[in-house]
Amino acid sequence: MIGIPVAIVGAGIGGLTAALCLAQRGFKVTVYEQASALSEIGAGVHLSPNGMKVMRALGLENALEEVAAHPRAISTRDYASGEPNFEGPLDEAFRERFGAAFYSFHRADLHAVLTRAAHASNEISIELNARASAVTSAEAHVEIAFADGRSVDTHCAIAADGVHSAVRESLFGALGTKFTGHVAYRGLVERSELAEGLVEDKLNIWVGPGKHVVAYPVRRGELINYVALVEEDGWDDESWTTLADANTLQATFAGWNDTVRTLVGRTLRGQCYKWALLGRDPMPSWSRGNTTLLGDAAHPMVPYLAQGAVMAIEDAWAVAGCLAGADDCAAAFQRYEDERIQRTTAIQAAAWEQGRLNHAVGREGDDETFRGGGFAEPAWIYGYDVVDLFPI
Ligand SMILES: Cc1cc2nc3c(=O)[nH]c(=O)nc-3n(C[C@H](O)[C@H](O)[C@H](O)COP(=O)(O)OP(=O)(O)OC[C@H]3O[C@@H](n4cnc5c(N)ncnc54)[C@H](O)[C@@H]3O)c2cc1C
Repeated sequence: MIGIPVAIVGAGIGGLTAALCLAQRGFKVTVYEQASALSEIGAGVHLSPNGMKVMRALGLENALEEVAAHPRAISTRDYASGEPNFEGPLDEAFRERFGAAFYSFHRADLHAVLTRAAHASNEISIELNARASAVTSAEAHVEIAFADGRSVDTHCAIAADGVHSAVRESLFGALGTKFTGHVAYRGLVERSELAEGLVEDKLNIWVGPGKHVVAYPVRRGELINYVALVEEDGWDDESWTTLADANTLQATFAGWNDTVRTLVGRTLRGQCYKWALLGRDPMPSWSRGNTTLLGDAAHPMVPYLAQGAVMAIEDAWAVAGCLAGADDCAAAFQRYEDERIQRTTAIQAAAWEQGRLNHAVGREGDDETFRGGGFAEPAWIYGYDVVDLFPI
């Protein structure tokens, strides 16, 4: 099968990584992206060792190190006093234990490294302004229709078009993506605007009743990214992502410690993104004929274990390995599903449980003490090595 053309819908972290993994194995890849330019939103993202192992295998570890921040530890703290209640290492010993580093990025920096690598590959072409609207998928033939009336025929396709995947809907029908009742507010702060040491070089998490805040350095430590996760009754905006006013957000954190309030108060341009967190029950199958799903299109999850993009990256390596080793796409995609569905389903559930633990702190009638949840026993998440499972 090596050398066959593969279409990928979506040039996010998952789609671009899949293109690079396939190109490395000799496939000709065309990526169709709805946007008119390749970019990512201004927010942070962590890549844990299980994702960084793929980046190393793609030859991108050094380029990523240059733009990363390296948190020394994960530290959770009480929302009111700011006192620590759990700390786990993310240091050199952690790197040695799991075979790669835990890095934090500005999303645009991570995306730019992937984009540069894709542009440098003779095997990858990227078409912008290409919004897929429907896919017809049979054995040995896939037709992708676009919103502007065009269509392309290809041999096999991978849908990496995110949580609202049009390809998934076209192949599997509307599966009812649901608002989880959690809203993420994501903002950036110039580190030079903050008193020295206010935010440590750690993955800092403050946990309180019905809310938690995560803050960590990105872009070599020049910026601090924060994510404030808040339980809200409803979502009345048409878009699932919208700009919010950081001053309004500050009122939500009355009674919280000074660091959190200072961070929100210093948000770059006073603007943060407001992001509805969506969930869906795990799917028993991701493929139809010669088309399969990858990343959030297949398994959206709440971000409480920072594994959504990392799972897309693991998927990317696995699907390329399966295609390279099979005689036909359907068999390759069956093997891909067999390898991936159990793990991503377990991580979806663990991420949700982590959110419940975070927000239980201090709630009346709930005497649960925060003990670090999934971060306290990370071996099954970070120790996984998809590169080793599908060697080149
Ligand atoms: C608050 C928050 C924090 C997070 N933090 C982390 C973290 O620290 N670590 C981590 O691993 N994950 C994290 N995640 C999860 C992570 O962001 C997602 O899992 C990841 O972005 C999924 O990548 P993807 O490529 O599958 O989809 P997306 O990033 O959604 O990319 C989809 C791409 O497809 C394009 N597209 C969409 N529809 C079409 C179409 N019809 N035709 C053509 N193109 C289309 C889009 O424009 C986009 O470029 C976080 C998520 C949130 C909300």
